[in-house]
Amino acid sequence: MTFVYDDQNIFAKILRGEIPNQTVFESEHALAFKDINPAAPVHILVIPKGPYVSMDHFCQEADAAEIEGFMRAVGEVCKIADVEGGFRVISNAREDALQEVPHLHFHILGGRGLGPILAR
Ligand code: 5GP
Repeated sequence: MTFVYDDQNIFAKILRGEIPNQTVFESEHALAFKDINPAAPVHILVIPKGPYVSMDHFCQEADAAEIEGFMRAVGEVCKIADVEGGFRVISNAREDALQEVPHLHFHILGGRGLGPILAR
């Protein structure tokens, strides 16, 4: 499929510094910040700095440095966040997953029992 990135999405604005955020970690290739509407005591969003809509877009088109930088950022967030008891990573893509913001993001959720992976 063809991926079309909308640079007016809210996370693009956060990356450009047009909208404030509570940064947890930043590196050359990634930014991690607190979700504005947390679903768990720990709810951090990790985003790549490049213009990728979703996980499949990123994995198909990002270069090795971007992929390593993003995944290392997830590792750093897990060190910083209180997730010794466990955590869940979620990345929604497109309509069926109810993706709200069309810039790739990992939700890092933890700090309490998270229940089953999906509602049936
Ligand atoms: P999605 O449904 O796309 O997987 O998740 C988008 C997430 O972004 C939601 O959990 C929502 O609370 C969060 N979000 C939306 N707008 C903002 C914002 O302006 N700042 C922050 N920090 N999080 C946001």
